[in-house]
Amino acid sequence: MYLKKLEIKGFKSFADKVELDFTKGITAIVGPNGSGKSNISDSIRWVLGEQSAKTLRGAKMEDVIFAGTESRKALGCAEVALTIDNSCNTIPLDYSEITIARRLYRSGESEYLLNGTPCRLKDIVEIFMDTGIGKDGYSLIGQGRIDEILSTRSEDRRNLFEEAAGIVKYKTRKQEAERK
Ligand code: ATP
Ligand code: MG
Repeated sequence: MYLKKLEIKGFKSFADKVELDFTKGITAIVGPNGSGKSNISDSIRWVLGEQSAKTLRGAKMEDVIFAGTESRKALGCAEVALTIDNSCNTIPLDYSEITIARRLYRSGESEYLLNGTPCRLKDIVEIFMDTGIGKDGYSLIGQGRIDEILSTRSEDRRNLFEEAAGIVKYKTRKQEAERK
C-alpha cells in the first residue's frame, strides 16, 4: 500500500488544480519558505478527516479555502483527493486503488467521497484504522511530534503501539458497543 496521487484544488495556496503523482519509494518536497510545502501535508491531513482548524494552522475551517491574493479572487470551495494503491489489499475493500476526497464550500457545506461515492467521515476513519494512515496515524509525523511521543504519558504512547498492532478498530467497536 502506498500513496499514489494527491489532487488539490482551491485548498490554501493552491488555487489552480495541482496533481502530484508519487511513485514507490521516497518522495521529498522542497521549495522556498512560504511556497506551500506544509500546505501539502495539511491537505493530506485534511482529506483524512482532520476536524481541528488549529492543527491545520488556521483559525476556522474556512481558512483552508483559497483566500485570494492581490491578483486573484478568493475561491468558494476547497477540494482534495488522495489516491492510495491497494493492490495488495491491505485495506479490506475490493479495490486495487482507493480514492478518498473531501470538499468544503464557504457556505459551510461539506462532503466526503470514497471512490466517487458520497460517504460519511466515519467510513473514511474506519477504512484507515490500524493502517497507520489516519490523520492521527504514525505515517503523519508533524514538527514537534517526535518530542511529544517521547515525553508524553505512557497511556498516550500506548495508542501508537495499538495502531501498529492493529487493534484500534476492535477497541473502538467495543467502546461503541458499550455506549449503546
Ligand atoms: P516553510 O519553508 O516556511 O515551512 P512552506 O513551504 O511550508 O514554508 P506553507 O506554510 O505551506 O509554506 O505555505 C504558506 C503560504 O500559504 C503563505 O504564503 C500563506 O499566505 C499561504 N496560504 C495559507 N492559507 C491560504 C489560503 N487560505 N489562501 C491563500 N493562501 C494561503
Ligand atoms: Mg512549512
